[in-house]
Amino acid sequence: MSGATPPVMHRLRDLIDADRDGFAHRVFARLFGYSPQVRDLFPVHMSHVREAFVDVLDHVLDVLPGDAGHEELIELLAQLGRDHRKYGVTDSHYDQMAQALVSESALLLGTEWNAESAETVAQAMLMTTGVMRGAAQSVEGPATWRARVVQKFTINRERAVVRLAAIDPVPTLNAGQYLETRIPQWPHLWRNLSPAIPPNPAGELEFHVRAVPGGTFSAAVVSETAPGDVWTFAQAHGRLRVEPDQPVLMVAGGTGLAPLRAILLEMARRADSPPTHLFYGARFPGELYDLAMLREVATTNPWLTITGVVEETTDPWWVSGAVDPGQWGVSIARGKVGDIAARYADWSDRQVLIAGPPDMVTSTKLRLRLAGVPSEQMQHDPVARH
Ligand SMILES: Cc1cc2nc3c(=O)[nH]c(=O)nc-3n(C[C@H](O)[C@H](O)[C@H](O)COP(=O)(O)OP(=O)(O)OC[C@H]3O[C@@H](n4cnc5c(N)ncnc54)[C@H](O)[C@@H]3O)c2cc1C
Repeated sequence: MSGATPPVMHRLRDLIDADRDGFAHRVFARLFGYSPQVRDLFPVHMSHVREAFVDVLDHVLDVLPGDAGHEELIELLAQLGRDHRKYGVTDSHYDQMAQALVSESALLLGTEWNAESAETVAQAMLMTTGVMRGAAQSVEGPATWRARVVQKFTINRERAVVRLAAIDPVPTLNAGQYLETRIPQWPHLWRNLSPAIPPNPAGELEFHVRAVPGGTFSAAVVSETAPGDVWTFAQAHGRLRVEPDQPVLMVAGGTGLAPLRAILLEMARRADSPPTHLFYGARFPGELYDLAMLREVATTNPWLTITGVVEETTDPWWVSGAVDPGQWGVSIARGKVGDIAARYADWSDRQVLIAGPPDMVTSTKLRLRLAGVPSEQMQHDPVARH
């Protein structure tokens, strides 16, 4: 990776950008042509895969010819390589992908494809797949591990709690991290889920899942998951954590409560937990289903304060029957959870953890920034959905 700028890379990037999905389609068609069994490693619907693939390629072609950003690029590719272990990707697949990329690049560059551009593009593609392969090879331990569903209950038509017991040894996991997860109903689809309890020696896991409208994985969990199902997990990601020497603000929207709940339960085991205020928001009062449990934790852990936040004051018919959250003696505010939290007090000295749907995370961050909380004090998981 020298400082010289071969214009062919940027030219190729522009040509790919003119028809991103078409390029990705052709590369994958070529790859599946070399090795039809590779198709089985990918999900039925490939649009997310193609999108992510072109995003990475775009980044490679953008960064590689320049002088800056090489370290971040290598780390991104290494992470991708580690991520791809779960698909069962082998060394020969990396060679075939590099070959497919070079062949399609040649077609795209047309008359601009010559000995020099061929060499430059081939090097870039081999570097990309080489870093991914090397990182995948350097990871110790199995790529995946399994756990069996032992209990599942639905909170309402959109939400379920699923409890599992590990079948295989559980790799190191921190409270607040999320796991790449696959369910038997969708054998090639991986989605991220955040355990709602801290890791424990018994290998027990709990997840809170919301079926998003039109969702694939989440709908299957809420409506089809049953005791006995075996779920598969791959890598743990995420850096949400609480430093013991600074007070904490937590803002949770819906099932975004899960990673913060895991952290709170872990904090409850320690003697030195800092003052913590949790704002737990949902649209309807009956959706604050975990308030009773949180209230119990707060009762025995005086460092914890909880405020429930709802956008509507009454439940619709499909939530009705839920317990009125007011009965738990927790104060309930009305509005959007990020707005209520930001207006409630001066949080500028707090470490802030935010978790919830992408829109909620973005708007909460903005509100808190406007209220004087420095961005560097705020933590959240990636808002990308996959
Ligand atoms: C770090 C992280 C942790 C996560 N933890 C959890 C968790 O603990 N519990 C949980 O239920 N989910 C969690 N998710 C979300 C989960 O990974 C899936 O994205 C979600 O279940 C939707 O997948 P799907 O296959 O059902 O929907 P898809 O079939 O992928 O999408 C269907 C439609 O729903 C839309 N959509 C996708 N995701 C969302 C969303 N979050 N909100 C609104 N619309 C959406 C899509 O744009 C699309 O239109 C987490 C996501 C991330 C990034």
